Amino acid sequence: MNESPEERIPDKFEELGICEDVLRALDEMGWESPTPVQRDSYPLVIDGHDVIVQSRTGTGKTGAFGIPLVDRLLSEHGNEQALVLAPTRELALQSAREISKLGAHRQIDTVAVYGGASMERQIQALEKGARVISGTPGRVLDHLNRGTIKASRIRVLVLDEADEMLSMGFAKELNAIIEKLPKDRQTLLFSATVDRAIKRVAEKHMRDPHFLGLSGDHVGALGIEHFVYMVSGVGRVANLVTILETEDPESALIFCNTKAETEEVAAALQRAGFNAEWLTGDRPQREREEVLGRVRNEELRFLVATDVAARGIDVSHLTHVINFSLPENVEQYVHRTGRTGRAGRTGTAISLVGPTELGILYYLRLQYRIFPIERTLPSEGEQRTRQEADRIAMIDAAYRKPPTEAELALVRRFLTHPNAERMLAGLLGAFFGTDAEARDLDKVAATRRRRGSEHHREEDEGRSARDVDEDQNERPTATLYVNVGRRDELKASELGRLLRDRTGLKRKEIGRIRVRDKHSLVDVPEDRAQEVIESMAGAVLRDREIELERATGD
Ligand code: AMP
Repeated sequence: MNESPEERIPDKFEELGICEDVLRALDEMGWESPTPVQRDSYPLVIDGHDVIVQSRTGTGKTGAFGIPLVDRLLSEHGNEQALVLAPTRELALQSAREISKLGAHRQIDTVAVYGGASMERQIQALEKGARVISGTPGRVLDHLNRGTIKASRIRVLVLDEADEMLSMGFAKELNAIIEKLPKDRQTLLFSATVDRAIKRVAEKHMRDPHFLGLSGDHVGALGIEHFVYMVSGVGRVANLVTILETEDPESALIFCNTKAETEEVAAALQRAGFNAEWLTGDRPQREREEVLGRVRNEELRFLVATDVAARGIDVSHLTHVINFSLPENVEQYVHRTGRTGRAGRTGTAISLVGPTELGILYYLRLQYRIFPIERTLPSEGEQRTRQEADRIAMIDAAYRKPPTEAELALVRRFLTHPNAERMLAGLLGAFFGTDAEARDLDKVAATRRRRGSEHHREEDEGRSARDVDEDQNERPTATLYVNVGRRDELKASELGRLLRDRTGLKRKEIGRIRVRDKHSLVDVPEDRAQEVIESMAGAVLRDREIELERATGD
């Protein structure tokens, strides 16, 4: 393999010699200068070389092949095509979108072909003459076998996230696809890790490839700060909540190792008042798209996901990657944390590390020379300080009106009284109530403090401080299960209204309403639970007959 060229390569897109209309598209996309991977690969790619590019998602790698493709490799009036293979449909779609933006002013159409979507529509787009085909291996092979993609027309092959494709078990499809393509094509391979399996693919299917790599030491460390919290492994979800409260990240992709864990963590974050959602392969396509839409529109603060579900999704705006649990191998750590700190921005990776995960941490240091900084969970004292600040902020927010002259006179007299502290402590005690009630209030205060919780507030008829305040006398509550949920497009406020209308419950008697996917949970006073269940019988909401019953557990 050849090494990367040593000569200085230009810093501006103009200096690379890119055509006017592609420059215009780049300008419209807001890309001012090429990322290192774009800058380094462009001259090699337009010279017709096969290139292996070691790069993470987020380095601008789609542009690294997309720009030369639309700019030079595919002539506007020819019929030769480029085939981009990606491990997931999300990535295939994302690349197709980006390439069509790059080619906005050229006669070059793009089509995304992936499983689970209409074959007919893809065939139509192919027949209409799409020039860039971006797809997942299984579906692309299908089209090649049917003849709806003509192998002989493929001039450029791009293997995007090649290591992911191999680790997802696409080796057979990849080989079958590549065997069908013309031998004189150009092949570009992008991969975050270049191990023996990747080298074998390169040896077998590429011609004298140039290698553009980041040095091993920097693969994962580039622009990313790594932190770890040592945890006991017990009460991990609570630890995560504390970490989120302490670090207060603007937004994060939170990785879990299993689907069950993903749902559990997201539910716990929602309960704690965070704007969080989960994504696993188990969610129906419509819901996945809805969640991804919210990620794209930057409406979601925390996305909890498995590795597979998160693959290829553009999360470049998320500031943090959090490992709720460390992945099973170090390469995966590099992949995960590479999702932040994209396109020159710095990102932060935070991992919770339990006793059984120390081995991975060791390999991370040894193999990738990533040395995460150790942080400790805040002590009780520190948590108390934060709680105090929350309470003061809450009182401050509750009483906005300036005091009258008479009130001010009383306040001043009060503050100069020798027993002011004792009296104020008593007043605050009365305001915040007993310890148990105080915890409720703290939750309200903390929920308010958290940025990005609008979504939650809408879903969850958050009780105001006053509601809680008026409801001081301890009254046991029962949690009721309701058979409608988010899937039925239920809003918490709607359910609250129906409960009030039908059962005569007062607003303050209705506790938290948690709208889950298929059901909802609502807290009502224990002594009215049975009556509520009976009065709700026969009620209809969103065309569904509502049934309430006592929840067996939350
Ligand atoms: P990628 O590595 O292809 O997934 O790209 C990561 C993100 O960086 C995507 O959101 C791109 O749109 C963005 N991006 C890529 N190249 C540039 C560039 N030259 N300037 C600004 N943003 C870019």
